[in-house]
Amino acid sequence: MAIQKVLIANRGEIALRIHRACHEMGIQTVAVHSTADADAMHVRLADQSVCIGPPPAAESYLNIPNIIAAAEISGADAIHPGYGFLSENARFAEIVESHNLIWIGPKPEHIRTMGDKIEAKLTAAKLGLPLVPGSDGPLTSVEEAKEVADRIGYPVIIKAASGGGGRGMKVVTEPDQLETLMMQAGSEAKSAFGDATVYMEKYLGDPRHIEFQVFGDGNGNAIHVGERDCSLQRRHQKVLEEAPSPVISHAQRSEMGEIVSQAMADMGYRGAGTIEFLYEDGQFYFIEMNTRLQVEHPVTEAITGLDLVREQIRIAEGKPLSVRQEDLEFRGHAIECRINAEDWKTFAPSPGTVKGFHAPGGMHVRVDSGIYAGYRIPPYYDSMIAKLIVYGRDRDGCLRRLRRALEEFVIDGVKTTIPLHRALLDDPEFQKGEYTIKWLEQWLERQSEAAE
Ligand code: ADP
Repeated sequence: MAIQKVLIANRGEIALRIHRACHEMGIQTVAVHSTADADAMHVRLADQSVCIGPPPAAESYLNIPNIIAAAEISGADAIHPGYGFLSENARFAEIVESHNLIWIGPKPEHIRTMGDKIEAKLTAAKLGLPLVPGSDGPLTSVEEAKEVADRIGYPVIIKAASGGGGRGMKVVTEPDQLETLMMQAGSEAKSAFGDATVYMEKYLGDPRHIEFQVFGDGNGNAIHVGERDCSLQRRHQKVLEEAPSPVISHAQRSEMGEIVSQAMADMGYRGAGTIEFLYEDGQFYFIEMNTRLQVEHPVTEAITGLDLVREQIRIAEGKPLSVRQEDLEFRGHAIECRINAEDWKTFAPSPGTVKGFHAPGGMHVRVDSGIYAGYRIPPYYDSMIAKLIVYGRDRDGCLRRLRRALEEFVIDGVKTTIPLHRALLDDPEFQKGEYTIKWLEQWLERQSEAAE
């Protein structure tokens, strides 16, 4: 069924991103916003807007009754959740569908399965994805945990089944720490996620984070759209992403890509998804699957020419995938810098009024951002205020263009992480692509020692 009007249940750059895809497809948009976001760009550009509550997200962007009411009042026929907020809430997806609205996202049962990390791993194993060695399910006793740890070898990591955002994980290096750390992990998981269930994995010493973008039509057809390297992280939060990964060969991409797309086809997966792996010594290890659009999706768009939001909308309309695997080409190199309103040395948030704003431009430079001169960055939400995505014919060309674009970028009035990205680009190891998930934190330590 052709979608006429999409309600965008999100804010900031991603709300704008979805609005743009909709308008290019001739689809009208409805913005929803909290009272703190009445002046936001996505609200100004949308065809209609509805205020759904006060600033706290729990009362606005997570307020399901108000969002459904906004869809009904505005006559929207579909809802796009973006990322974060309600995007991986299976119950919300079900409610949307039960109100005869089109859910631009995966089937609710797949959101639910992949949202439970133990279920997700069991499903991944059945679908033939390589796993990190670990417990087959939840850990039920200390004895069992000891057995598993002896089998897979220390160090091990204890993780919360309902975990997210890198929280509730404990690394155990010695057998005599196991009992204490397992108890701690369980009680932290209970208080953070309301679920004390934990499981165990082998702790990989120095992996990269490499994820595959997939699309399924819901009827057993699926493709992969290549990988992204998101190893540059601080506290398990991605800072800069690139596609392709500097360490993956064409043959590895085809081989792993074939495995993940076959898995999605077998599952009958619908819509966009990301399959996350740790990668060490040439081996991939599945850690989780995200059943939504990712922040870093534009690097994939840059090297393939595929509009991922348009693809999501087409699939939600029941159309077939717009490209065949054999027609997809991966060309050149793209890097995304996440620009946060934060002090780049302390990472303390820096909300406030943007006094001056000048975005870089020129060939192959994309800025996804909802900010403008005079905009007040509210203190209630995520601190990411812009994404800079740069494309080049190869990685070196991309790095040169990125440096030039960062030189041009002006955001006055608040502190941003632009200086962090400029400094990173000057690092010889980064320039060679030689980094793992631990590299950035070590680099930041070296920077602060050098400054003392
Ligand atoms: P979350 O859902 O909380 O983000 P993930 O399972 O995706 O949890 O893991 C987040 C990050 O934690 C990974 O990107 C990686 O940096 C680290 N990590 C997770 N599992 C392991 C492991 N088995 N070995 C080493 N590092 C790990």
